[in-house]
Amino acid sequence: AKNDHRGVALATGAADDVAGRQRLTTLEELRVGLDRGELALHYQPQMHLASGTVTGVEALVRWDHPRRGLVFPDVFLPLAEHAGLMGRLTLQVLDIALAQSRDWRADGLDLVVAVNLSASNLQDTTLPGHVADALSRYEVPPAALHLEVTEEILMRDAARATAVLEELREMGVRLAVDDYGTGYSSLAYLHALPVDDLKLDRAFVTHCDTDPRSAAIVKSTVELAHNLGMRMIAEGVESEAALDRLRDWDCDLVQGYHLSRPLPADRFTAWLAERHIF
Ligand code: C2E
Ligand code: CA
Ligand code: CA
Ligand code: CA
Repeated sequence: AKNDHRGVALATGAADDVAGRQRLTTLEELRVGLDRGELALHYQPQMHLASGTVTGVEALVRWDHPRRGLVFPDVFLPLAEHAGLMGRLTLQVLDIALAQSRDWRADGLDLVVAVNLSASNLQDTTLPGHVADALSRYEVPPAALHLEVTEEILMRDAARATAVLEELREMGVRLAVDDYGTGYSSLAYLHALPVDDLKLDRAFVTHCDTDPRSAAIVKSTVELAHNLGMRMIAEGVESEAALDRLRDWDCDLVQGYHLSRPLPADRFTAWLAERHIF
């Protein structure tokens, strides 16, 4: 029995080694990938519900791996964060997003671009300076950039995060609390933090047309947001029925597969053109 036990332990250890080696390989490839500019962005439209206008996009990072093809953020973002690569990664994402924004503006497309920030970004006091620099390099007005920060991240080191966020907001960049409703935060921070928009997590949005508890949460979050002078963004809108309810409830902006999946820039502009929006 003792031997069996040891055998199991060894087998588990071996499996861990394989997983560990794979992570290490991915990490080394990611470092090279960052040097070679292998990151790409896909864009998912955000629509203003009352007018039906597409007012902006969320930029979502992908890694265009030479052999593996398109790699999704859940695979490499945790590694990047752990290895201290998130600062570089975010600056690259900002660069791609703002270059795209400049190109859209040149074509007469006045779209806001929302970029996601990570936990380590908010602890980095040099971030606001880098953002200001990128905005002026691409001649994009600060108001055309939105930054999304998850509720969970906001709670980690609220003092330092608040300082970074305040500096960004003073520049005129708009801030959203992402995945709202999934963290373990109190309402006190909503009161204290310099944020403009609440982005309610899709867990409460997707079935808001059929699930009464989701409906109650959506309705009260819209009210909360508006009472705080914020806008409410619903993500994970997957049906016309959910969209209709969100409109009834006065939600400001929607995003989700029902409108469009995240798309490469050229396919996104084709999608826009098809909808006769420009
Ligand atoms: P997120 O910020 O909550 O982004 C929304 C995610 O939900 C995206 O997944 C998007 O493709 C997906 N989604 C959009 N509409 C729907 C829908 O109707 N239904 C469902 N089920 N899902 C929908 P994605 O692109 O795989 O990104 C996953 C997460 O990775 C993001 O969640 C965000 O936390 C992170 N992420 C993505 N890009 C970046 C980035 O450039 N920087 C940082 N720091 N994080 C990023
Ligand atoms: Ca987001
Ligand atoms: Ca989200
Ligand atoms: Ca999420």
